[in-house]
Amino acid sequence: MNQTYNFSAGPAVLPREVLQQAREEMLDWHGSGMSVMEMSHRGREFTSIIEALEQDLRELINIPSNYKLLFLQGGASSQFSMVPMNLLRGKTKADYIHTGQWSDKAIKEAKRYCQVNIAASSENARFTYVPAQDQWRLDSNAAYIHLTSNETIGGVEYHWSPEFPANKNDVPVVADMSSNILSRPLDVTRYGLIYAGAQKNLGPAGLVIVIIREDLAGFAQPGTPTLFDYQVHINNNSMYNTPPTYAIYITGLVTKWLKRQGGLAAIEQTNIRKAALLYELIDACEFYQCPVAKHDRSRMNIPFTLKDPALDNMFLEQAEANGLIQLKGHRSVGGMRASLYNAMPIDGVAQLVEFMKEFAKKNA
Ligand code: PMP
Repeated sequence: MNQTYNFSAGPAVLPREVLQQAREEMLDWHGSGMSVMEMSHRGREFTSIIEALEQDLRELINIPSNYKLLFLQGGASSQFSMVPMNLLRGKTKADYIHTGQWSDKAIKEAKRYCQVNIAASSENARFTYVPAQDQWRLDSNAAYIHLTSNETIGGVEYHWSPEFPANKNDVPVVADMSSNILSRPLDVTRYGLIYAGAQKNLGPAGLVIVIIREDLAGFAQPGTPTLFDYQVHINNNSMYNTPPTYAIYITGLVTKWLKRQGGLAAIEQTNIRKAALLYELIDACEFYQCPVAKHDRSRMNIPFTLKDPALDNMFLEQAEANGLIQLKGHRSVGGMRASLYNAMPIDGVAQLVEFMKEFAKKNA
């Protein structure tokens, strides 16, 4: 098979080394006589896997000891409801920053549980930028402030963390980091709660991680289903029910791979170089366009359009013939989207850029 480069927004490319190791360990994990898929989640083998993952992630991200790390199911979407169900703590309002389609979904879900104050929105410019923190109109009675650190569809990323406390009432910031977690160093102390679906930079689908400051748990609204109560998962070390064991195992391999790459500061430098390669071409070549404000452009998801949308299908077909796959933009926006997660090698981006140059030359 020729080398292909997978630009999917998620589920997304995984490090080749990780897939090879998983293949080698598939039938017999470390001499246990079992596949990881066949192990009891409470047995000593799987316990060693989940404990190593927790330790490695804590080390990589530098998670302080007063934060709990949870491994849950239900995808990042489950957190759209779990956050208001648990963090209102007797209050009736929450602040949301509206930067695109994923924050929109979080807002719609939160409205089922509380009064949502849109503290800032970039809707006036079709969600092409991040409103600066000094523009946020926070509600002094809000229980928390929710933001989406990287809009996977719009390609808009916060290149900063909110100053904390974000207001004088010490309101915690909650961030959906599904599509940029582990792509850069992160100051966890700026946030009360961070969540991320695994299927981009962490591992396969089926797992969502939650990093929660421990004093924020234990206040689930009456009537909250047991499985939606953070305190239950904290008390049971993410083992209240069967966790997504295989996804946890692969995430463990990805985390070890990332440590071998030099950790978050090192991967950030590579991610900066990869994104720059593609943005430089898009900006230099009239044939391609990216609508996002330069200072808020995502390093992970790069949406772009061709001069003539009638060429879209031909672009996708020829790209695929060159081993460059899953470049089609989200169905709601059209055009193209190249996702450059940690596991996308810089060679893949270089080949995409070469292909795009040639394509523009032939079809200008
Ligand atoms: N938030 C963001 C930023 C996402 O990109 C996604 C998935 N693409 C989600 C939430 C929803 O994740 P899931 O499908 O795992 O529920």
